[in-house]
Amino acid sequence: MEPGGARILDGAALARRLRGELQAQVSALRARGITPGLAVILVGDDPASQVYVRSKQRACQEVGITALDHHLPASTPARDIIALIRRLNDEPTVDGILLQLPLPGGLPTEAILDEIDPRKDVDGLLPDNVGRLWLGRPRFVPCTPLGVMRLLDEAGVSLRGAEAVVVGRSHLVGRPLAALLLQAHATVTMCHSQTRELDRVVSRAEVLVVAIGRPEAIRGAWIRQGATVIDVGINRLPDGRLVGDVEFAEARRRARAITPVPGGVGPMTIAMLLHNTVAAAGRRGA
Ligand code: NDP
Repeated sequence: MEPGGARILDGAALARRLRGELQAQVSALRARGITPGLAVILVGDDPASQVYVRSKQRACQEVGITALDHHLPASTPARDIIALIRRLNDEPTVDGILLQLPLPGGLPTEAILDEIDPRKDVDGLLPDNVGRLWLGRPRFVPCTPLGVMRLLDEAGVSLRGAEAVVVGRSHLVGRPLAALLLQAHATVTMCHSQTRELDRVVSRAEVLVVAIGRPEAIRGAWIRQGATVIDVGINRLPDGRLVGDVEFAEARRRARAITPVPGGVGPMTIAMLLHNTVAAAGRRGA
């Protein structure tokens, strides 16, 4: 163990390295006449979504992916968003379509998402891609869980037979992550808001992944000695600080490796979005 506690898993550095690799892949695709294209649809003016969309666009530019920005007013009717998606489905230079969530209240999120061609669903959220993931025949794996798996790999964690606990069962993070951990032969326990004795379950984890959106709700004292801890949560405190879902300082004293917030999972999510887009471009015409 490093002085001061667990090894810090530097997602920002790993993401930078991955972006370098992706840049090389994009150059190779361009040499074949293919420029990967990602269409990003943002409806409304949610400030957090605007920040996410901007950082996705910047990352695309950095590796040579064309980012096509579609910013629509919050008052846009569902049928207009659907018409745009259908146009993008038919556009051969668009490899990925990303609909930034959450949509403004009143819009039928699932019905709109369902219009995206599953072969362009770089977020991996559509039933076709979710089913494929659970069948072990993945096409697009959701970006955050994919980034978590890369971080675990980087941490040198052996998942086969390991006791893995996932806290949070969202479609975006917890559930797809459980599928990936199972495929990697971990023994997986899923926890959520109805789980009894969460502290007891968490304390069993050799690998702990938390995605609940509750600042420091997972207490450091619950962490098993020598565990690897991945904190997906991003929470802004009233004083402006960003913290994760895990009580970092105390958890670091017990864990073997831990992700910081910010600078852990966040940058990896964006790198994996680029990865999925480049992979889709590689399959163009297939
Ligand atoms: P959701 O709100 O969709 O899901 C939260 C999950 O946590 C639910 O399954 C809920 O249980 C569970 N939960 C809530 N409170 C508790 C609790 N006290 N104890 C145990 N389980 C609880 O969140 P997301 O998965 O979308 O996001 C989770 C966090 O991760 C957020 O902070 C978000 O900002 C962050 N995030 C970060 C990303 C990154 O790139 N770093 C990407 C995506 C998300 P139930 O199902 O019973 O309601």
